[in-house]
Amino acid sequence: MNPPNTFALVVDQWFDGEQRHAQRTTMKVVDGRLEAVAAGDHGDALIGQGWPVERGAFLMPGLVDAHVHLFLDGASTDSKQRSEHLKQPLEALTDTARRSAAQALANGVTGVRDGGDRYGINHRLRDEARSPGSALSQVRSVGLGVKRAKRYGAFMATDVGDDDSIRSSVRELARANDEIKLILTGIIDFDAGAVTDEPQFTLEEARSVVETAHAAGRKVMAHCSGFKGLVVAAGAGVDSIEHGFFMDRTTLALMRDKNLAWTPTFCPVHFQWASPEVAGWSAQTVGHLRRILDAHAEHLHLAHQMGVRLLVGTDAGSMGVEHGRAMFDEIDRFLEAGLPLAAVLRAATTEPRRHFGDPQPLLAPGASFEAVQLAASPFVDVQVLRQPQRVWDAAGRRLPAAVP
Ligand SMILES: [Zn+2]
Repeated sequence: MNPPNTFALVVDQWFDGEQRHAQRTTMKVVDGRLEAVAAGDHGDALIGQGWPVERGAFLMPGLVDAHVHLFLDGASTDSKQRSEHLKQPLEALTDTARRSAAQALANGVTGVRDGGDRYGINHRLRDEARSPGSALSQVRSVGLGVKRAKRYGAFMATDVGDDDSIRSSVRELARANDEIKLILTGIIDFDAGAVTDEPQFTLEEARSVVETAHAAGRKVMAHCSGFKGLVVAAGAGVDSIEHGFFMDRTTLALMRDKNLAWTPTFCPVHFQWASPEVAGWSAQTVGHLRRILDAHAEHLHLAHQMGVRLLVGTDAGSMGVEHGRAMFDEIDRFLEAGLPLAAVLRAATTEPRRHFGDPQPLLAPGASFEAVQLAASPFVDVQVLRQPQRVWDAAGRRLPAAVP
């Protein structure tokens, strides 16, 4: 008699993506959409009207991991095994991506932004996740990014040359990509404790990428770390800076003024610091890693104080960074940096949805019921986030809880 995904839910407390509500609340979900929210417990009356009524301690919007690579398996920490992984046939890599997206969803991560892969597996997963009955996290896919020949990023980007080539490639990629990924710099040289290579694009060239992407209605997410690259990224107005290690106050001020987002991705660097034996880092390099992480945390705190838009993204798929589970580690890093939990949860739910152009970024009447139920309030014990009791996906379908 009831349409699918239609029920009422009474919760003791909840977080709407912006604010915490510390009072019992009744919600009506109709056909996977949140239809009404009313203060108080109206469960008995609704049972009388024939509604299926469920109860729970705490409800919040589904989490969004703003930076993942679905086709990479983060659980693998053997670098030989990791490079062998990439040599597998497309179908095997696609299966890895399916497992990643399923694991994300089981952990309450109802949406991910895939930061690039060479094969377009992320586009395929985006389609599969939309099909009815999928148990996959929704995928915002950047497809293939753009980079310079012979420079970092071959696993996720295509090479571009002169200005014409930049513009025509970006226009072409914008047809299928939800955003344009710009590989602006390489990665950190941990032994040197710095980004040692020059940016792959000048300010003018990065502006060409941004202008062309914006003209096609697409945002730009830029892989970027190090002072030189950050000057180019913020100056060109890329919509989000990914990683952004060696951040500085001037760049943050520009980001705030231009409304650019920052996804600091602590996880991959934190893994290298926490497990130095895996890569065989020297004591001196471990010291560099600690210093880099501490400076990163200080800049994250500053960014929060200055009002820069922040996105929680894990870079899941990187060594030691597991899809779904890494979200809670990244949240811990944000908390260690001194951000209040409400701000961290905003960066893990509403801010990415807003950045992605979701017209209903909050858990409010009219929004799809993409939600996570917890056994207690994370404002009392944040670790309850790690064991969601129930997850409702983007279609408002209830899933079994994650296996811890
Ligand atoms: Zn990445």
